Amino acid sequence: MAKLPSLWTHEPDKTLKFKPGDQVSDIDANSSPGFKGGKKDAPDIQAERNAKFAELQDLLYANGRSGDTRSVLLVLQGMDTAGKGGIVEHVIGAGSPMGIRYTGFGVPTEEERKHHYLWRIRNALPKGGHIAVFDRSHYEDVLVVRVHNLVPPDVWSARYDEINAFEKKLVDGGMTIVKVAMFVSLDEQKERLAARLDRPDKYWKYNPGDLDERALWPAYREAYQAVLDKTSTDYAPWHVVPSDKKWYSRLAVTELLIEALKSMDLSWPPADFDVEAEKARLARA
Ligand code: AMP
Ligand code: MG
Repeated sequence: MAKLPSLWTHEPDKTLKFKPGDQVSDIDANSSPGFKGGKKDAPDIQAERNAKFAELQDLLYANGRSGDTRSVLLVLQGMDTAGKGGIVEHVIGAGSPMGIRYTGFGVPTEEERKHHYLWRIRNALPKGGHIAVFDRSHYEDVLVVRVHNLVPPDVWSARYDEINAFEKKLVDGGMTIVKVAMFVSLDEQKERLAARLDRPDKYWKYNPGDLDERALWPAYREAYQAVLDKTSTDYAPWHVVPSDKKWYSRLAVTELLIEALKSMDLSWPPADFDVEAEKARLARA
């Protein structure tokens, strides 16, 4: 495919990275920071960048097969309808299932409740050469849990430091963590929920509880602010992705992943056999 002229005016990983002092209440969910194109430009660019992502993911997987222990973890957080599922389908879906592991984290099961909240997270971490995608994550344990007082404040408030230490260990062990907070506006959420109620093929995505969460928007805003303030570290920063425009959020997350993979400086693993000798053997075979 021909190389398209880039319509990014600023590098998405830098533009979208959370900076100390940034306020959730100031986010314009309908904006498209750093991108000068529009919806009409998106499909071609998305296709081209999906191919780039797929190539880099293949490279990561090949290295993993050759013993490289490095991996990538994509953490997707956002309110209902923010578009987490769309990222999985339209961005991650461009990669190969061989090296990708998806996990959606819902209300903890009976089994999960018997364990520390990071237990189910540890069980879903990527192996060397793999990309793990978290559709919700350990951050629910300081989001929904905080908003609904599912544990006392002294318990959830200790988790920010614990999560930072947990992630530090992962990064030190060779994991690249890409954290994405997707923000959708109340108006857009209403439209997306309405669409789910209008279309039988979307009923499965609708949960009557979503409206209860929607009513708690201000509390969630506060909880998200705390997550960004307390867990955006130099080794695992948050990226804030305005998500009213699905085409934009998908392009943006694709770029974040491409950048993360590129920064790993991967190359094709050399043959651990004598190529010429094998060619000669094959010719005789
Ligand atoms: P969905 O992502 O739409 O399938 O919904 C999953 C639901 O599980 C959301 O309402 C989350 O808030 C909820 N959830 C995820 N993790 C937790 C947790 N640790 N404790 C309680 N609820 C959770
Ligand atoms: Mg849902």
